[in-house]
Amino acid sequence: MKPLYDLGVLPVRYRTGKGFKPHISLTFKTEKNRTFAVDTTNLRNSTDAYLITHAHSDHHGKSAMLCENSVCSEETARALEILYGKKFAGSTFRIGDAIDISGVHVKTYPTHHTIGSTAFFWENEVGTRILVTGDVKDAKDLPKCDLLVTEANYGDYDDPACHFQDDIGAFREAVKEHDDIALGAYSFGKAQRAVHLLRESGYSGKIGMDPTSLSLTEGLMENAGQLCGLDDDCGIRIAALAKLSGIKATKKYLLTCRRDHKVPTISISDHMDVNGLIGMVEQCAPQAVIVYHPSGHRPVKLAAYINKMGVYARALEQINNCIEM
Ligand SMILES: [Zn+2]
Repeated sequence: MKPLYDLGVLPVRYRTGKGFKPHISLTFKTEKNRTFAVDTTNLRNSTDAYLITHAHSDHHGKSAMLCENSVCSEETARALEILYGKKFAGSTFRIGDAIDISGVHVKTYPTHHTIGSTAFFWENEVGTRILVTGDVKDAKDLPKCDLLVTEANYGDYDDPACHFQDDIGAFREAVKEHDDIALGAYSFGKAQRAVHLLRESGYSGKIGMDPTSLSLTEGLMENAGQLCGLDDDCGIRIAALAKLSGIKATKKYLLTCRRDHKVPTISISDHMDVNGLIGMVEQCAPQAVIVYHPSGHRPVKLAAYINKMGVYARALEQINNCIEM
């Protein structure tokens, strides 16, 4: 942990009788000691701020959105409100804005993973530039930093499933006829990406969506065009995987880079593959990396790879600073 000590950042995990609380808290000094929790549930302690990178359920905005000191983009707050039917209690910003969080000057950057997904960037009193990314689809807007706190959804270099590229050509080919096609896509993230790709490829007809995907798309997208329910008359339908089998359609495709499904897939992901993750580390040029998401072995694998690149890296499960609650 010496590099992190030198950088003036103490990563902390909280543990209850039931196990670890998600994900990580970072304690650092500016004028005062500050602790920012990242993508966690309500810790009911003196945490100064809850940073919510985006509204996917495994980043725990459902719980953190009820804390007054939670912080996320306007779009993430709206997505959380649509998903959970509760009022967002914290403060919001426009992505790209610099904001004051508990007396700390924080810059925000888009990560292009979902609508509203944000990276947070700030400096502590010894000048360490800290960047917390959440999930990332495209790192092009991210700045250089000294400590990178990031994801490893596809972080295992030795796993062929972690090497992929979006196949926009296959998507365009599949939707070319656009009569009676059903696309399987997660309600938040992938469904809006599918609408964007459909409009970009020139389809201007109605798009049918399941209720959750529809309210998220209507609530978050400006140029979504005409949308309707799954039962309405339309040529293309987008539905969550669980609802796809119940839809009658001539052709069905699942939008995913995973290869463990029976339905034909089109390679479209909300994430970077492992080469993208490595490229992000090179671009941001940190002195240290903490890989904090998801669960499973991939963060350890990515941390090992980054260590071999000559950069100090630890996965969340290798961080031993625990506070019992
Ligand atoms: Zn996500």
